[in-house]
Amino acid sequence: MSGYWNARVKRLDPYIPGEQPRNGSFIKLNTNENPYPPSPLVREAVRKVLEGENGAGEELRLYSDPACTDLRNAAAAYFGLKPEQIFAGNGSDETLAFAFAAFFESAGETPPDLPVLFPDISYSFYPVYARLWNVPFTGVPLTADFSINPDDYRRPSAGVIFPNPNAPTGRLLDSAVILSLASYLEAQGKVLIVDEAYIAFGGESVVPALDAHPNLLVIQTLSKSASLAGLRVGFALGHSDLIEGLCRIRDSFNSYTLDRLAQAGAAAALNDAAYYAGINGRIKITRERVSAALEELGFTVIPSYANFIFARPPRISGSMFFSRLRERGILVRHFNRERIADYLRISIGTDEEMDVFLEACGQIVADKK
Ligand code: PMP
Repeated sequence: MSGYWNARVKRLDPYIPGEQPRNGSFIKLNTNENPYPPSPLVREAVRKVLEGENGAGEELRLYSDPACTDLRNAAAAYFGLKPEQIFAGNGSDETLAFAFAAFFESAGETPPDLPVLFPDISYSFYPVYARLWNVPFTGVPLTADFSINPDDYRRPSAGVIFPNPNAPTGRLLDSAVILSLASYLEAQGKVLIVDEAYIAFGGESVVPALDAHPNLLVIQTLSKSASLAGLRVGFALGHSDLIEGLCRIRDSFNSYTLDRLAQAGAAAALNDAAYYAGINGRIKITRERVSAALEELGFTVIPSYANFIFARPPRISGSMFFSRLRERGILVRHFNRERIADYLRISIGTDEEMDVFLEACGQIVADKK
């Protein structure tokens, strides 16, 4: 705490990302990265920018395209939208931060009376953005089986946001249910943001319904489905008026949020859907195999539509199990929060990594018998 901090900085409760160990000796199942490499087209595109026409990296001398034109054109073809329905940001985290500022923040001196609604167990960055922008919020409790009940969001609010599939539970909501909630919120003049960070791993996207819902904003990311967490590219998809709102925030903040390497690499990834269908298909098969194996070991496993599994080990606390795995060089994610403190979120790695993980789980469970 410093006397130089203003009230905003004092009020913040910053997000703590999952551990990124600096040596490579861990099996890393803690931040939902894709275990397979990105498409070879990404490497080629990034190398082309790095080397430039004359091999001297000339392109990096110049600022990147603030409008991300080529990337948005590639995304438009990929999503079946017009480029003006697409915003590209420095990861979906930045895109989400801008969306909170554009659609949820109070424009006046005093905060709005109505809270933004999101699930109480959900992506833990949402309350952080809310505090950053001084947006009141209410965490709406998940049901006993960790589902989102869409009817709980049919009440006056400043807007609604949730991930689909939800994180860290992996549970999925039906598109029809989401679109019905979008219509309800449209009648209230409010925005519904659906964070589809994990939609490539099993769910049905609501992107095809965007033309019918001017208040619906879909967030997607290349971090998980395109193996590009290190490139930092995310999208907001929606009505061109919503996209313009995000551009106004960005252009009041930093015109060049995406560098040249990111724009070129991301566009290349969007052009290799076949490669990604292959690796993400493998992740889904591994997820089902690991879920079944964990149940065999006595874990309670929530059915997952994402590239992670949310599961409760038998007879051992979540924090203890987390430590036992860590001692064996395996990192998973543990949230020390009410209702989920005995659960672990396990990202899906390669089959070889998951075999080592399952072996370790078997030993830890057996030790406790
Ligand atoms: N939304 C959800 C639900 C997430 O779990 C994550 C990953 N932590 C993100 C958004 C952010 O992803 P990125 O900034 O890498 O695009």
